Amino acid sequence: MLYYLVFLVSSAIILCFLGILPYIWTDILISAVYVLVICWITNKLFAKLFKASYNPESTLITALILALILGPDLIILTVAGVSAIASKYLLAWKGRHIFNPAAFGAVFCYFTLNYGATWWIGSLETLPFIFLGSILILRKIKRFQLAGIFFILTLILSTIRSAEFGLNTSYFFDLFYFLVPPILFFNSVMLIEPLTSPYKFRHQAIYAVIVAGAYYFYGTIPLEIPLELALLTGNVFAYIVNGSFRKVLTLKSVKKESADVISFSFRVPDKFKFEPGQFLEWTLAHKNPDSRGVRRFFTIASSPTEDEIILASRFADKSSSFKEALKSLRTGDQIIGSNLAGEFTLPSDPSKKFVFTSERRKLCFIAGGIGITPFRSMAEYLIDKDQKRDIILLYSNKTEKDIIFRDVFEKAGWKNIYVNTDIDGYIDEELIKNKVPDYKDRHFYLSGPPSMVDAFADLLSKMGIPGNQIRTDFFPGYN
Ligand SMILES: Cc1cc2nc3c(=O)[nH]c(=O)nc-3n(C[C@H](O)[C@H](O)[C@H](O)COP(=O)(O)OP(=O)(O)OC[C@H]3O[C@@H](n4cnc5c(N)ncnc54)[C@H](O)[C@@H]3O)c2cc1C
Repeated sequence: MLYYLVFLVSSAIILCFLGILPYIWTDILISAVYVLVICWITNKLFAKLFKASYNPESTLITALILALILGPDLIILTVAGVSAIASKYLLAWKGRHIFNPAAFGAVFCYFTLNYGATWWIGSLETLPFIFLGSILILRKIKRFQLAGIFFILTLILSTIRSAEFGLNTSYFFDLFYFLVPPILFFNSVMLIEPLTSPYKFRHQAIYAVIVAGAYYFYGTIPLEIPLELALLTGNVFAYIVNGSFRKVLTLKSVKKESADVISFSFRVPDKFKFEPGQFLEWTLAHKNPDSRGVRRFFTIASSPTEDEIILASRFADKSSSFKEALKSLRTGDQIIGSNLAGEFTLPSDPSKKFVFTSERRKLCFIAGGIGITPFRSMAEYLIDKDQKRDIILLYSNKTEKDIIFRDVFEKAGWKNIYVNTDIDGYIDEELIKNKVPDYKDRHFYLSGPPSMVDAFADLLSKMGIPGNQIRTDFFPGYN
């Protein structure tokens, strides 16, 4: 996201310099640098005051969004920047901020200075850059459904509103010129922001409808900030449905699982409930965090039936500062686990009476490397609950030595196929047909790096497996 925004600011500066955009290029440059400095200083002060750890990248992202949607007025940028960053600390409950900071800053500016966002970056001239960036961002964070629903609904509702005054060709030109570019920017940068939008797919669809509906509604009353206000309305819904889960976890022990995988076992905090396959957002404050920041998502590799919370991760030769800090944790040290979420979970127990036929399907799990963590949680859970399920596990690693949690999978009694790419090659159609002859009757769960998961989802759909028989879990961040 940061690279995308830097790319947009740079493109805008060049377009201004070439006279394609009607602004002065130095104004854009100065305002972007200025708001970055304002947000940076404000964040440092609040972080110190609240003794909070923070992600430096998110401050820069907020600043650049403000530079791209507000005009180059330094007073406005100061008020917007300070209020946006302050909202992250002051309008937060149980460690989680409620509102999208940039949208809040813009709304605050409107009510204090009577100056709303101009969304100047959204224009026909910048549309190719916005479009390209939107596709890349939405592809990366897998939120096409959310963005798509909002985009289509907004176009329909705007057309309905304009129909009252009669539709003509100039309406469609206006739509394309004035609405589509800012909406695409809003969609891919603000609407989908992970911390202030819902985690679950079904909540995301409702959230998209709420924001689109609120945008339509606020457009009917004389307020000039319908988009920003609509987003804040949606943020409240997201906050409610996401819940405000936050636990302090204390390290019990550390175990080396393979040459590059380490597992960390934490004490189970009180009243901690989760489903096998779910994940947490882990925050580890440390000195001089790199640009990747102090937060990461990790699956809970243990089962709810165990007396420990396990985080297992792969460590590269040159790790991020987060991973270095994780590696240096000692027994008794603490880390924060928040935002429990995830729908990569087991279907209902098929031996129960009232279960949908689709939930009774046999399962096939495909894991690549560290993508095995949710399956460890499920295996241990089924063992402890004494539930028998028809499961085939295809688990791919570079070498035999990279296989982790083997004992748990053997104990679970699944049909486990270990594929070591150094000698067996990759899992392909032939291997699936060979090892999973009844593959058409199975529900597939795919977990690993995004490129691997995408490749298997494509392969399975070519093999005739419908999309509703495929679930995916992506582990981004690995090269
Ligand atoms: C829902 C979900 C569940 C997940 N579950 C797990 C899990 O159970 N276990 C797990 O290990 N991961 C999991 N992940 C992925 C995890 O969140 C991290 O993205 C991943 O571990 C990479 O961590 P890292 O960014 O610290 O990079 P590292 O692992 O330290 O490094 C990965 C690569 O990036 C390079 N790199 C490191 N830092 C930088 C930098 N500052 N700039 C440029 N390159 C750099 C490294 O050299 C290396 O090649 C999950 C992700 C999601 C979304």
